[in-house]
Amino acid sequence: MATKAPPAYDMSLVDHGFEAKELKGLTYPLGDHAPGYGEIYKLAPDLGWTRMPVPGNLNHINLWLLDDDAAEGEGYAIADTGLFMPDTVEHWKSMFAGVLSERQLTRIFVTHFHPDHVGCAGWLANKFKVSVWMNRTEWLLARLMSADVRDHPPEEILRRRKFYGYDEERVEKMRVGGWGNFARAVSRLPTGHHRLDDKAVVRVGNREWTIMTGGGHTPEHACMVDHHNGVIIAGDQILPRITSNVSIMDSEPEADPLAEWLASIAKFRAALPDDMLVLPAHGFPFKGVHARLDRLASGHHEQLDRLEAALRTKEMRAVDTFGLLFGRPIDDGIYGLATGEAMAHLRYLERAGRARIEIRDGVGWFHAA
Ligand SMILES: [Zn+2]
Repeated sequence: MATKAPPAYDMSLVDHGFEAKELKGLTYPLGDHAPGYGEIYKLAPDLGWTRMPVPGNLNHINLWLLDDDAAEGEGYAIADTGLFMPDTVEHWKSMFAGVLSERQLTRIFVTHFHPDHVGCAGWLANKFKVSVWMNRTEWLLARLMSADVRDHPPEEILRRRKFYGYDEERVEKMRVGGWGNFARAVSRLPTGHHRLDDKAVVRVGNREWTIMTGGGHTPEHACMVDHHNGVIIAGDQILPRITSNVSIMDSEPEADPLAEWLASIAKFRAALPDDMLVLPAHGFPFKGVHARLDRLASGHHEQLDRLEAALRTKEMRAVDTFGLLFGRPIDDGIYGLATGEAMAHLRYLERAGRARIEIRDGVGWFHAA
């Protein structure tokens, strides 16, 4: 039997001269070092890291450049693309005119349909005549949501917001606010895509990446795992510091995304060795994936327990749980996300038989079971 060849590169990154940082059980091999927007930092000779701006708390998204075999000359693939906004487009353009000018873009990988990940994919695919490699569900959602632009939200959406506990004023604001924000930060995707299924193995240059999908944040978020070199492009599936949003989505209002999220955490926990280098979409590359996944799972279970205890003392609508779940003020910019996440926790308790719902005047009131 052939023995496995040693890893091509030392992904421990100790040779880069940065001081590793330990924080809350995780190791950041590069400390606080990160590339500037549109700069490329080489994590390995064939693996580059860049960042693009994202407005608001997220601040940035990490994108990855993978050396690839090109028909002529030197090629590279991109994993995730940034929001389709003037800032990001300018950074891409200066990279194409500068550091990437001698190289050929071969293909575009996208982890999931969220705008900061898929935003520039269509623009880049059309500009360079390359294909978008994406999970089918995620690609369909991106196509569907960017096509759904209306003057007013559908009535069923407003009814659902009332169900969650939005007051009249907030529902009214939403009614006149238009519908289809998604399309504003996402360029038009090509009509076809190259499908990434769970467990598929994709060769990119000298590396083999195994696709690993997870649910809960989005329906079939695709991570790329290089088992041989011990590295995972994790997208939003495994973030080091912030917790990924797990929300009830309007495309599937009866779903139980938190159950899917917890199942995905167990799936990744079982499949990934603990010394894997995690390349997250937000924050810094880190090691300690088991500790991080355990913390994410226990964090949700603690919230579920506290929520269940609170429901024993009073009935609550989704919007009544913000203080308990988030412990910080929820402004208008994130009110919708917070509501979706609150509903995901309530739904989980309801499906687990730990809470029950009573609907009065179209509003959902939750009680302990
Ligand atoms: Zn996301």
